[in-house]
Amino acid sequence: MDYEIRCSSCGKPSASMLDFKCSMCGQPLIVKEKRKFERRQIKKKDYSLWRYSNFFPYVKEKEIISLGEGWTPLVKFSDHIHFKLESLNPTGSFKDRGSTVLISAVHTLVKEAEGNIAEDSSGNAGASIAAYAARACLKAKIYVPENISGPKLTQIRFYGADVIKVSGNRNKVAEEAQKTGKGRFYVGHILHPLFRDGIRSLAYEIAEQSNWKVPQRIYLPVSAGTLLLGVIDGFKHLANSNMIETLPKIIACQTRQASPLYHQIKKLRYTAPEKITSIADALVSTRPPLLDIMVTSLNEIGGDAVVVDEDAIYDAFKELARKGFFVEPSSAVAYAAYKKQLGQKEVAKDERVIIILTGTGLKTNFTPS
Ligand SMILES: [Zn+2]
Repeated sequence: MDYEIRCSSCGKPSASMLDFKCSMCGQPLIVKEKRKFERRQIKKKDYSLWRYSNFFPYVKEKEIISLGEGWTPLVKFSDHIHFKLESLNPTGSFKDRGSTVLISAVHTLVKEAEGNIAEDSSGNAGASIAAYAARACLKAKIYVPENISGPKLTQIRFYGADVIKVSGNRNKVAEEAQKTGKGRFYVGHILHPLFRDGIRSLAYEIAEQSNWKVPQRIYLPVSAGTLLLGVIDGFKHLANSNMIETLPKIIACQTRQASPLYHQIKKLRYTAPEKITSIADALVSTRPPLLDIMVTSLNEIGGDAVVVDEDAIYDAFKELARKGFFVEPSSAVAYAAYKKQLGQKEVAKDERVIIILTGTGLKTNFTPS
């Protein structure tokens, strides 16, 4: 086998690509790609994530469900800063990388079982899973908190997914979505290992688009951890394959309100607020199930974490828009974190930096003041 999917805790191999947690101990699963990354294996004429299809060996070529995701622009912002425009993916966020890989891998299995898929998300992941399910002719049930509204929910509805509103907190929504039954398959983006694994492609693109001379630092927003863990996995795969000399320093950027990773990395105590009111409304995970894995992975590669305040997020959001980059406030968190580190001289002005702009501003609710 070119890959293995096993438990992150007890090591038990997973028997089915539809498993979203260990059947023995219930802990998260991880995917290990065993094949080395080689340049000649890239499909150079495919300008989507699937130019790297050889490194996703569990997806059969003829079963790929694609909307043209990936190979997003790496745009120069200043002499030393580039933006990776993940906002230009088909549904408007980086989540499409996870959805295309996950749905491509499982849609035939789900159809054979005459089943449907379930996901819990009121945001970008819900919209993305709904879109790829539609493309694959699968029925998707998206579980959301009952008070949810706005452009992302509209998007989920138009893709034709069933929206199921659940009262209670975010954990209750997840519990409902995960309930088992005949023909019900939970593909939640936070837990399903193949969703996270799809994000690996982002590291490959950054490396290839930088001509294999990776930046010194990468700033990215972190909530549940799929983006962070996927990017780290991708760069580790490249380093282990001798494609890059050193790993970039990965900076996990969080809002003050939802910053459990930052607090653990800095060995500080974190108390989650009762309600998240941040304008960075995609960053809501106060108790992410992958927190321990995130801490270990980030420490292992010598990464860092930064926390930013609301004023700084709003300023960064407005500044980006006024320079032509209309992204969602949650994406502006990474730019705000870079500016904070620059101000505190924790990053040098001439360091080569990439900031990942994760989602489009067209899904934001508020109007300019
Ligand atoms: Zn286990």
